[in-house]
Amino acid sequence: MKELHLYNTLNRQKMLFEPLDPAEVKLYTCGPTVYNFAHIGNLRTYIFEDFLRRTLEFNGYQVNHVMNITDVGHLTSDADEGEDKMLKGAKREKKTVWEIAKFYEDAFLADMGNLNLLKPHKKPKATDHIQEMIDQIKQLEENGLTYVADGNVYFDTSKFPDYGKLAQLEKQELQAGARIKVDKNKKNPQDFALWFTKSKFEDQEMQWDSPWGKGYPGWHIECSAMSVRYLGNQIDIHCGGIDHIPVHHTNEIAQAEGATNVKPWVLYWMHGNFLVLKDKEKMAKSGDNFLTLQALVEKGYDPLDYRYFCLQSHYRKELTFSWEGMDAAKTGLRRLKEKVCRLSKDQTPEDTETFPRPQKSFTSAINDDLNMPEALAATWKLVDDPNISDTEKLVIILEFDKVLGLKLNEQKDVCIPENIQKLIIERNEARNKKDWKESDKLRDEIEEEGFVVKDGPEGTEVIMK
Ligand code: AMP
Ligand code: ZN
Repeated sequence: MKELHLYNTLNRQKMLFEPLDPAEVKLYTCGPTVYNFAHIGNLRTYIFEDFLRRTLEFNGYQVNHVMNITDVGHLTSDADEGEDKMLKGAKREKKTVWEIAKFYEDAFLADMGNLNLLKPHKKPKATDHIQEMIDQIKQLEENGLTYVADGNVYFDTSKFPDYGKLAQLEKQELQAGARIKVDKNKKNPQDFALWFTKSKFEDQEMQWDSPWGKGYPGWHIECSAMSVRYLGNQIDIHCGGIDHIPVHHTNEIAQAEGATNVKPWVLYWMHGNFLVLKDKEKMAKSGDNFLTLQALVEKGYDPLDYRYFCLQSHYRKELTFSWEGMDAAKTGLRRLKEKVCRLSKDQTPEDTETFPRPQKSFTSAINDDLNMPEALAATWKLVDDPNISDTEKLVIILEFDKVLGLKLNEQKDVCIPENIQKLIIERNEARNKKDWKESDKLRDEIEEEGFVVKDGPEGTEVIMK
């Protein structure tokens, strides 16, 4: 059935996708650290992952998707330095870390819904899986890959020869690149903490008992522990943003493969490139330059306008945010919805018996490493194709929308042209004044234009005939 090719960061090439078990694709995506709102850069990464999930499903695969929620252990630097992110959020808002975690997790899930991102099948929280993390650290210890220094447990990267294979960096580069300040307890600068007991943060609220003393886990261990817990020792695809390649994902591999001895842990590593601002500045949660989805809504955009904006660029390319780009996306989405609206004027897809001809251009675009800009172009080409009937177009387009996720069949708001909207307002005014003669006249006018007027307890609804 399928010829799906995906770019694998592991060997820097596009590869035919062949899952371990064709009956179930195992997908793990690194989730949010819930100490603040997600910014639209983070959301770009989740949108790319959603296109991936939908493309897999479009190809007939059943996907088992796990995404973690980080509510403990993530320091402001990925490399065991800086402040504890959750604590920072709690101090900022004068709340407990638990309150912060709950609030921002809910906010993140709301963003996911508004962007029409498919729900992961499991969303395990780090704080609910401390035991799994302790167990994995114990396995690493048994396999001789750890040491304890000043009470903390570290991964000894010198004992793991493959360390750094994902980043394709020599150890020296890894050392020089990602780590600026070096923890004096570390034997090798690229070693990383698995468990902290000598907390740098005396006011750390989240602490658990462990064989090494009371403390809390390093950030990276949660993903390898929860992935193994829910998806087994090997998985098909693991995703995140490109910033995770040199440290977080490199460390995740060391932990999972070091603990289970099963290699490779992940067959395909996929990474989304950044959303940047005009001056190429990366949007960052800890900086002041971040924009939330809510900020876009407040400026009059629909969250799906942002989804459309992201669709226009390939996930491996940097995407520059601009308000002009958002305006163009808004117009593009509205126009596409209007077209679909016109197609659905005389029918609902359920009543058609048309069997659509396969649309190769769309399928080959998405199957070529998720080339969404081309898939979108194929969608536009189809709506404007004079050789395909409206009925058939509608069926195909709603099929495409299973991947695009733009809710193209929900176009009530765009279906009513402005002149009709004006008549509706005038008629409502007439009805408020109990001027039934005028209101009936306006109803006739609206109906002559091809719309049906329905007055009900909730108000007046006008739909296309
Ligand atoms: P965080 O909640 O900070 O752990 O980040 C969530 C996801 O967003 C991770 O996969 C990051 O790699 C990704 N990310 C962070 N900044 C950006 C950005 N500016 N553009 C795209 N993705 C990003
Ligand atoms: Zn992760």
